[in-house]
Order: sequence, then C-alpha cells, then structure tokens
Amino acid sequence: MSTSLAMAAPWRLYCSACDTTAPGDTLTSLCPACSQPWLTNVTLPGQREDGVDASARGLWRYRSVLPVFPDEPVVALGEGWTPMMEAPALAQAIGVGRLWIKDEGQNPTASFKARGMALAITRARAFGVRGVTVPTAGNAGAALAAYAAAAGVPVRVYAPRTTPPPILDTVLAFGATLILVDGHIGDAGREARAYAAEHGWFDVSTLREPYRVEGMKTMGYEMAEQLGWRLPDAFVYPTGGGEGTIGIWKAIAEMQGAGWLNPAERRPKVIVAQAAGCAPIVRAFAANESAAAPWIDPTTYASGLRVPGPLGDRLLLRALRESGGAAVAVTDEVMRTETARLAQATGIDAAPEGGCALAALVTLVERGELHAGSEVVLFNTGSGASYRWRN
Ligand SMILES: *Cc1c(COP(=O)(O)O)cnc(C)c1O
Ligand SMILES: [Zn+2]
Repeated sequence: MSTSLAMAAPWRLYCSACDTTAPGDTLTSLCPACSQPWLTNVTLPGQREDGVDASARGLWRYRSVLPVFPDEPVVALGEGWTPMMEAPALAQAIGVGRLWIKDEGQNPTASFKARGMALAITRARAFGVRGVTVPTAGNAGAALAAYAAAAGVPVRVYAPRTTPPPILDTVLAFGATLILVDGHIGDAGREARAYAAEHGWFDVSTLREPYRVEGMKTMGYEMAEQLGWRLPDAFVYPTGGGEGTIGIWKAIAEMQGAGWLNPAERRPKVIVAQAAGCAPIVRAFAANESAAAPWIDPTTYASGLRVPGPLGDRLLLRALRESGGAAVAVTDEVMRTETARLAQATGIDAAPEGGCALAALVTLVERGELHAGSEVVLFNTGSGASYRWRN
C-alpha cells in the first residue's frame, strides 16, 4: 500500500458546507473550518462503458468512481450488486404504477452498512490506522467487525444496550470488542470518539469518516443500471444517520454530471422514511429548516432509525428540497404491519426499516403525492433475521 500512497490520490475531499478542500490522501474526519462532513470529488470516465466493469464482483464494478487507487487491493466480502426485484402485486395493492424492492439484506452481515465499511476499511488500512472505533445502532457495528477482521485491524464497537441481540452476537462473532452503552447512538458516539482520541485510533462514525458514504453511493449506481440506466420517479429510504440517502443522491448527481444518463431522465423525488419516535428530519423539513434539532428521547424498535442527531441533516434537507421530495414519520405499530406485508407479499425478508419505507410510500399515495403513474424504488436496508430472537 505504501507504493500506492506515494502517488497523489486521484480524488479530492471537499466540504459539504464551505469552500474548504483537502487532498484525498489525508486521514481526516470533519472539515476543520466548519465541522461539517467532507464529500469526495471523483472524476468519472466520460463514457459509461469505460466506467463500469461488469466482470468485477459486487459494488466493485463501479471501482472507477470510488476513492481507491488503480491497483490497490481492496477489503471485500462480496458486498453490493444486490437484487432489485419488481413487486407488481404489491404495487397494485398500494396504488403505484411500478414498484421495485432493492434487497440490501443480502449483503455480508445482512445490511447495506457493508458497502460503506468496505470503503472505510480499505482506506483506513491503507493509512495504517492502529485501530478503529464506531458508535452504532447495530448494523454498522456488525459490518465494521467483519471488514476489520478481514483487514486485520483491531476494532471497538459502541452500541446501545437495547440493540437487537442477533446484531450484538454478530459483532462478537468477528472478534470485535463490544462496549454496551446506556442511551442511544449519540451517547455511544461520545464514548467511541473519546477512546479513539485517547489511544490514537480512528473513529469511523457515519459522515465523520468521509468514505463510508462513497460505498453507499453504489446503491444509486446499481439502481440506475438495474433499471436499464433509467431513474424511477421516487426512491424511498428508511433514514437514520442519512448516509444511504445522501450517497444515492450523490450518485445521481455524478452520473448526470458525467453524461452517463439520458438527459431526459429526471432526478427522482427523495422520500425519507423515519420512525415517529425519532423523526428529526421529518420535523425539520416540515418546518422548512436547513438544519435539524436533535430529537429528545428517541424510541423505536427499528434500531437503524434510532439516530436523534444525524450529522447529515443539512445534506438530507437539501436533497429533499432539491428533489421536491417528502419526509414521512411512521409509528412502530404501522411499521410492524407493513414489515409483515412486505415480507408476505414478496418473499423478501423485510427488516422493520424496510417496513417503515413501505408505510411511508402508502402514506404518500394516500396524500396523492404518488399515484398509479409513479415508478418507485424502495430500499429494504437490512434483513428481518436480525430482529428475530427468542429469550
Ligand atoms: C443504518 C440503517 C438504516 C439507516 O441508514 P442511514 O444511512 O444511517 O440513514 C436503515 N436501515 C437499517 C437496517 C440500518 O442498519
Ligand atoms: Zn467546511
């Protein structure tokens, strides 16, 4: 890796909120000028055919648009290129024209978090970090434990005590050190960062680490490619920290900017689905704010959505406004019903977060914002298996 790092990185970091930039080969967390997240500027090949390597496994078919050196070995476990399944009966039942479910539960460690951690750990290993910490509502910790094991990097995972036991067991199965925290992911974050600062480790929290979101953006590339290089009218994402939604929105801008899509393809509406017990983005969007105040006392059984103070708030609210999108809060009770419906109507092992997305979609059809002419992609972000256990 030292040879790769000797050459300048072919990507740059730019601040999502101010004019600050940094070279790609800087180990960094937030913008030093304004404490907002970095994003990565990658130059896409001018021809889509040159940018996609269909012979590469999983998300690495988009390696040309990711922050990796040309010949660098990557940390991979088979992440990405998840199935996009059309669900015509469900589309008809809820009243949209066409509906596809992208099943992210089929990733390593059973959630889309694998995509981000593949990139984060590839970069962290290249920087020679001593160890990594992460606060997690669950799945990010499981994914990080797996990728850190693959790379031989020590890892400490900080998770709320209320995290579903199958997810905690997955963290332990990969040999990570697990620290259970009283409170929510925000409390876990303070502990994780304190340990990292004290011991010279690197914290890979959502959007404090610049490259996880680059892994997430491959969902946007896959969505377009799997629809025949077209875009839907809307995509629905169950949103906690915001990395998934922000990544997909960034991918669409990149593909359009490079001319990879027919100019007639309009950008989809961004639909943010949140739990009613933790809906900071829904509340801020309704109030027309550009930033979200932290949600006090977050509660929901969909652990991936229990993120009271997302660092991606400004980027999420911007994407919602730019796309003419919508943000919908869903009660746990409705989430349970819609999770069951999603699984039973499609055979996809729906996570509660996927059920949350379906419930948000149903609400928007009821409001008339989506209708029988709408084409919609819904992300089932994890696997229902992670939420089933017996005492
Ligand atoms: C993390 C997670 C989410 C929320 O994703 P963000 O990128 O943090 O918004 C949704 N669903 C599941 C299953 C998750 O693990
Ligand atoms: Zn800045």
